[in-house]
Amino acid sequence: MQLKQCYLIENDCYKQSVKMDGGKPKGIVVHSTAANNKTLKRYVQPVEGQENRQAILDDLGKNGNGNHWNQSKAGFQKCVHAFIGVNAAGEVETYNTLPFDVVCWGCSSGKNGSYNYNPNARVQFEICEDDLQDETYFDAVMREAQAFCAYLCKRYGFTEQEICSHNEAGKAGMASTHTDPDYWLANFGKDMDWFRQCVRDLLTPESDDNPSAFKVGDRVLYTGNVHYRSANAATGYECVGGEAEITEIYRPGKSKHPYHLRHTGEGCTVFGYVDAGTFAPVGSPVGFAVGDRVRCKPGVTTYAGGGRMASWVPKATLYVRAVEQGGAVLLVSTEPTKAVYTGRVRAADMEKF
Ligand SMILES: [Zn+2]
Repeated sequence: MQLKQCYLIENDCYKQSVKMDGGKPKGIVVHSTAANNKTLKRYVQPVEGQENRQAILDDLGKNGNGNHWNQSKAGFQKCVHAFIGVNAAGEVETYNTLPFDVVCWGCSSGKNGSYNYNPNARVQFEICEDDLQDETYFDAVMREAQAFCAYLCKRYGFTEQEICSHNEAGKAGMASTHTDPDYWLANFGKDMDWFRQCVRDLLTPESDDNPSAFKVGDRVLYTGNVHYRSANAATGYECVGGEAEITEIYRPGKSKHPYHLRHTGEGCTVFGYVDAGTFAPVGSPVGFAVGDRVRCKPGVTTYAGGGRMASWVPKATLYVRAVEQGGAVLLVSTEPTKAVYTGRVRAADMEKF
């Protein structure tokens, strides 16, 4: 989950800031926007003088249409606690737009009351819709929404049963009659029971779901070079290995990149989800020692820093001259002893022979 903040400080709902009873929401209502525009900037924009304004604009891009929700306008009575959509780089993020202990104007009311207001006030958020046909985007935003719900459940002591859609809230007489986001879920054969089950999975990982001996908080030596923004992301980003800490374990054996690592060692830049088998407990034998004769594994063409190797390097006999970053990086040379070095390589890219 990428949780960021841009309060809608000019929105009348924020200005009134009616506190929830007990300073705590009673549950969660999930919405989707009913408009084909997945960009967060459509709804979320900082105003002049707002904290972190430039950083938020850099992240989201500028809304040139003046139709965002951070404004006070006659007849405009809409505000929610968060939006989930894409930033300017096309990455899925969550923006918290109203304090979680302030009532929002998200779902209107029904014959039995409203989840907007006390005593039933809930956290409500909008998922930005696209054309509702793109399964990759659907997977990404739903996973983000479920992670956000799990975060709120842990923070406020909810179970997944305290989560409903606007559609369900309307049927319960606690909101206006809308059908979001159930119609979107249905396009991909899903429903709110599926959504809640996914949140439940996040809250209570089954013990046999975690065949590894690893747990959150473990210090490990990461020997890979790619991390991902989510546990099932298709595309990764380059990073440098080294010592890191496990900060989350997400459905091992079921997700593509189940382990979230955060760098702790010098030079290491991993901060994202990584594959199983790309790290080992700190202190375990790393497999390489100064003096070892090594070569690149088939297909390796880049150095640890990402630079491209000259064409002869992948075929060359090399010697380990220094073991660095806890064993993740090796300084290698064509010479066993002379002060001549070829470069720094990832230990995971090398093999002894
Ligand atoms: Zn709605």
